[in-house]
Amino acid sequence: MATNIDLNGFDESAWHPETLGVRAGNQMTAFGENSEALFLNSSFRFKSAAQAAARFGGTEPGNIYSRFTNPTVTMFQDKLAALEGAEQCVATSSGMSAILACVMGLCSAGDHIVASRSIFGTSVQLFSNILKRWGLEVTFVSLTDLKEWQGAITPKTKLFFVETPSNPLTEVCDISALAKIAHEANALLVVDNCFCTPAIQLPLKLGADIIIHSATKYIDGQGRCLGGAVLGSKVHMEPVYGFLRTAGVTMSAFNAWVFLKGLETLFIRMEAHAKNALVLATWLEAQPQVGRVFYPGLQSHPQHALAMQQQTSGGGIVSFEVKPKAGQTAQEAAWAIIDATKLISITANLGDAKSTITHPATTTHSRVTAEARAAAGITDGLVRIAVGLEHVEDLKADLALLSK
Ligand SMILES: *Cc1c(COP(=O)(O)O)cnc(C)c1O
Repeated sequence: MATNIDLNGFDESAWHPETLGVRAGNQMTAFGENSEALFLNSSFRFKSAAQAAARFGGTEPGNIYSRFTNPTVTMFQDKLAALEGAEQCVATSSGMSAILACVMGLCSAGDHIVASRSIFGTSVQLFSNILKRWGLEVTFVSLTDLKEWQGAITPKTKLFFVETPSNPLTEVCDISALAKIAHEANALLVVDNCFCTPAIQLPLKLGADIIIHSATKYIDGQGRCLGGAVLGSKVHMEPVYGFLRTAGVTMSAFNAWVFLKGLETLFIRMEAHAKNALVLATWLEAQPQVGRVFYPGLQSHPQHALAMQQQTSGGGIVSFEVKPKAGQTAQEAAWAIIDATKLISITANLGDAKSTITHPATTTHSRVTAEARAAAGITDGLVRIAVGLEHVEDLKADLALLSK
């Protein structure tokens, strides 16, 4: 007879996304704990030598060693997979190791990747400095110009790699259209969904094949732990998992437990981040010392309609150009605004309950040449805010210098 606590193996197919965030993937031990258990153990015991052999041989499912699987990590993977609508999730030690595991699992020397120029700076370094040494070719193209993607395809192209909205200019890419181009070339479309999370955007539903996450950001939500994830169909995740269990870029059980708690509140947090961001972006547009404001939720965003088709909100990241005053350079103007803040944290992280402020040209994008930065539109006056969960009036007050 089914009872109220027969939750293990519960049918989740009828649940709404918010309920999946709280309940999906959860498994209870015999103790009946209501908050998911943290399994801080490296190995698992077998009842007999025969069972050990069966586990290692793959004829009996079950845990062996936490580099391969761990129940707390499994719960995190199953919850995130349910939220993204993916068959399988492979959790990793960081967002960067998620990208590494994805490429190592699915590509070989001589293969080719087409990537958007507007991706996370460290992802550019990974592709162009490190993976290149191992025989992987990468071509960088414009995020929004689909003809450039088309033109970059070679017979060896395996992956398309994109982030949308982009950092820091919040440009949006048409995921369905890009997926079509990738599939015609027999390539897979990989979307780094870190900025939106499944609470705002579901790339697999739009035709993408693989999702990357830096769980460090909004999935944690309070700036505590590093982690990442790769999601997709079982057939694509099998070699990614194979790389992970051998190379050991595994997510720690403790971090998985923190992220599990993060996912429970993901929907209400993302809604609050986006609500604050829209109010702040609208206010910024009206300030005398502000030039352009970049936020997909604004009517003035050139791709507002596409963004609202793909996303349930504009998300939590807002960028804007500070207009220099007489005798000031653009960088001096931007730095003056950043240095005048007291509440907002000057730090490069994002997705935290605490609002953060950065000057992309001299931090996240400082390793890019000045010409490439200018071509990408990342000007010296540009400031990025990852809008947190403080009251938005306090954020405006912290930026009051922009009103002068
Ligand atoms: C932070 C970030 C990463 C890398 O994640 P880590 O957890 O820091 O390794 C990858 N992609 C995007 C979009 C990010 O913001």
